[in-house]
Amino acid sequence: MKSGIVFDLKRFAIHDGPGIRTTVFLKGCPLRCIWCHNPESISPECKTIKTHTMIGKNSFPAEKTIGKEMSSEEVVLEILKDRIFYEESDGGVTFSGGEPLMQPDFLRELLQVSKENNIHTTVDTSGFAAMEFIENTLSIADLILYDLKLIDDDLHRKYIKMSNKKILKNLQHLNDIKANIIIRIPIIPQITDTKKNISDIIRFLRKMHFSGRIDLLPFHKTANQKYKNLKMINYVDKIKAKDENELKKIVSQFTEAGLCAKYEG
Ligand code: SF4
Repeated sequence: MKSGIVFDLKRFAIHDGPGIRTTVFLKGCPLRCIWCHNPESISPECKTIKTHTMIGKNSFPAEKTIGKEMSSEEVVLEILKDRIFYEESDGGVTFSGGEPLMQPDFLRELLQVSKENNIHTTVDTSGFAAMEFIENTLSIADLILYDLKLIDDDLHRKYIKMSNKKILKNLQHLNDIKANIIIRIPIIPQITDTKKNISDIIRFLRKMHFSGRIDLLPFHKTANQKYKNLKMINYVDKIKAKDENELKKIVSQFTEAGLCAKYEG
């Protein structure tokens, strides 16, 4: 049995694929999105940090270890605890991160053992991985939640610190082999929501004849405290999230181009 580093396990998740799901978060990510909502996931190792809990005016220091080594058997036993909810809601397990393909052997075994137990499997990925892992690991999943952020490579390098070439090529390949994909686009004001980026994404998806679902993910400031605890710079704490009307306008750009899009409420 393989083992890997898991940094969280969320039960009763309803935004990470169909039905009620357990989401397993694997540690480590090769990208550096400046808006990352899980900054604790980026480093591949377990890490102990100091935290402060405020009760009234008093601050109580504590320590917290992010990440835990687990065997695939231990993870699958956790997943199986909620099997009844998956069966009743057509749910299952979602492997997220970080970037779950940073631990490809562990992920592959988790997918295989989940499938042997008839659990529906989803992988939430940035798509930044070697083609061999796309072919021998990601393509095993029943559903792929594939993040698409910026089409302009210079902007991708500026805001995500890596080229997007591999991401676009892998997406094209998965679409060609008819993998079950939902595209997820984080709507980060002034970065991914620009007119040019939205029309570039639409052009790219039309060119590859993408006919699946596209989910727009609104920006939320949920990670501010995490950045403080990790002593990391939060570059997006001043950004204002888009309102519903603005999100609807972006959705209509996709639907007018014949693509099937919605935003997550
Ligand atoms: S791909 Fe996801 S986990 Fe990785 S840096 Fe970007 S937002 Fe964070």
